[in-house]
Amino acid sequence: MSSLSIPASDPILEIKDLKTYFFLEKSTVRAIDGVNLTLPRKSTLGLVGESGCGKSVMSMSIMRLIQSPPGKIVNGEIKLHRDKTNEVIDIAKLDPRGPEMRKIRGGEIAIVFQEPMMSLNPLFKIGEQIAEVVELHQKVSHKEALDRALEMLTKVQISAPKQRLNEYPHQLSGGMRQRVMIALALSCNPSILIADEPTTALDVTVQSQILDLMSELQEDANASIILITHNLGVVSQMADQVAVMYLGKIVEFADTRELFHKPLHPYTVGLLNSVPVLGRKGEQHLEPIKGMVPLPTDAIKGCAFAPRCPHAMKICSEKQPILREVIPGHQAACWLHDEPQ
Ligand code: SF4
Repeated sequence: MSSLSIPASDPILEIKDLKTYFFLEKSTVRAIDGVNLTLPRKSTLGLVGESGCGKSVMSMSIMRLIQSPPGKIVNGEIKLHRDKTNEVIDIAKLDPRGPEMRKIRGGEIAIVFQEPMMSLNPLFKIGEQIAEVVELHQKVSHKEALDRALEMLTKVQISAPKQRLNEYPHQLSGGMRQRVMIALALSCNPSILIADEPTTALDVTVQSQILDLMSELQEDANASIILITHNLGVVSQMADQVAVMYLGKIVEFADTRELFHKPLHPYTVGLLNSVPVLGRKGEQHLEPIKGMVPLPTDAIKGCAFAPRCPHAMKICSEKQPILREVIPGHQAACWLHDEPQ
């Protein structure tokens, strides 16, 4: 279990000992297995790891979009600190289909997926889709909602925004669709934007434009962002802090600059060595991490990364390392930086 809560003086979201499991016929997948995370107000938290490490299940858990059955949040809290009322609400305890959760989803916490077609309806015009979301969360007329849709399309710097209002998703390029998704997500001024691999499907130039746009809009809207990605290069451009996930647990957490300059966990080192990262000093020798993320179906006795770790020791397969502060503000779950108790 990641036992340490990551502190923040002014949190907007606090996740405590979150566990999301999938109960299959013959096994249980522990997709999220004891995660503690705090998202400070108006900041960007990068959540990184390979496919299968649990990043997207995190976003779906926060949005209460886990399909049940077979999935279920079996433990933990997801506390949303509301902006206007100072009220704190535990999302994990809400009915996923109830009115409170519907109000939060899209209104207070919005999500942008890697594939915009997951959220856009191919049968409806862009303007109508944004207006529908606005009308769902705000007391406005249809005309006002359409005006807001146009305002948002202009904000995300889409070309010919008036014309786009009347177009269907298939008429737009991938980059434009992602801009529409961002317009849709930010149309109700959410306090938190979850961006789940928002640029993975885009070419590098468009990727960089979308990241710049998200940064600008974040400042404009005073929103906090959880940026979920397998790409540490993207995180280096955007995030204030980074949490590295492996097999349902946070294995390292630090400020972005600190993590890039002094990675402590061999998994983070492996991730950094496997992608070219802008601004990293010296020649970059790229080398993928050996092996695959195992399926989190069996309870693992020691460190889950041990079979792939070049530094694995005897203790690593016997006892699970706990996430702990190694340097002030920098946490890692690794026996290289801890003494067995
Ligand atoms: Fe490698 Fe051991 Fe650290 Fe796990 S605990 S990352 S196996 S050194």
